[in-house]
Amino acid sequence: MSRLEKLRQSLAHQEFDALLVSQPENQRYLSGFTGSTGWLLISASKALLAVDFRYVEQAKRESPDFDVIHIKGDIASWLPKLASDSRFKKVGFEADQITFATYHQLCKGTSNDHYQLQLIPAAGLVESLRAVKEPEELQFIVEAVRLADIALDYAKSIIRPGATEKQIAWELEKFLRVEGSETIPFDIIVASGPNSALPHARPSERVILRGEPVVIDMGARVDGYCSDLSRTLCLGKKDKTFSRIYDIVLGAQLAALATIGAGMSGDQADRLARTVVDQANYSEAFGHGLGHGIGLEAHESPRLGPNSVDSLVDGMVFTIEPGIYIAGWGGIRIEDTVVMEDGKLKVLTKAEKTANIQGEVIV
Ligand code: ZN
Repeated sequence: MSRLEKLRQSLAHQEFDALLVSQPENQRYLSGFTGSTGWLLISASKALLAVDFRYVEQAKRESPDFDVIHIKGDIASWLPKLASDSRFKKVGFEADQITFATYHQLCKGTSNDHYQLQLIPAAGLVESLRAVKEPEELQFIVEAVRLADIALDYAKSIIRPGATEKQIAWELEKFLRVEGSETIPFDIIVASGPNSALPHARPSERVILRGEPVVIDMGARVDGYCSDLSRTLCLGKKDKTFSRIYDIVLGAQLAALATIGAGMSGDQADRLARTVVDQANYSEAFGHGLGHGIGLEAHESPRLGPNSVDSLVDGMVFTIEPGIYIAGWGGIRIEDTVVMEDGKLKVLTKAEKTANIQGEVIV
């Protein structure tokens, strides 16, 4: 079944005639259109792609299954007429994606008495389709995972005491691009010593020292699809805290990888790893969720974390990334990208999970 057909199936249960899709990755997923500004309007029988002058030719080329509509002005000036011409009386919009300013324009458009258009908030319709990957999408992710794996090997070969976080991050970014990654999906994290206690640290001028944790978190992008990989390294001799925390985090990750199965909720999956951290008395130090879906976006559905009711099913691709963060000392995070296959997790990431490297090699 095509993506459009799948969406139409779920639209049949909604109270609106057509869905207005504004989120760029949702548009790309359904239509192939990669422009940064455009609107899809999809009903049981129509598939429209509305773009301004800059994107008309691109839209025709990338989205042959859609009727391309050339629009001018803000949404208030074209949506009511387009909806009326298409006989749509109720239009669903992506309530968790549009800005307040755009919503304001939408309301302006529908307050026009001439066209009787009603707006209905909707959420997650396309995202839930995107969460389950098709074989072709999985292939792109596998390649993106491979690029991150070899970039980690490269990191191990260049990292040394005295190098700064920024230097290593930039070398990794260049490596990923040269090896075939498109623009990298998120800023690379290289966080050493106390900086590694910040889950989303920015690479700084701090010099990397021996014996301290160095968290590296990076991903590649292939044909739009992302990977996500974290490892925590240690140059030379690990201190006692490092070994103890590393073993807890690794234990939590391995438990999750071995026991998460299809049909579980994101909350249940999270708990399988969190229990291990809780039992070691580090509950407070694991302050983020266990993982997140990955695909056209680096963070997408499903969510693996406390209170997540997302159901994990075959074909979903997500990360498993427990971490422990101790202010003043540092943090340890180990992250793999996985796919649910035949009810179990298959780990796509191949990078080793040993922390110790010598770090004697000079760039
Ligand atoms: Zn991640």
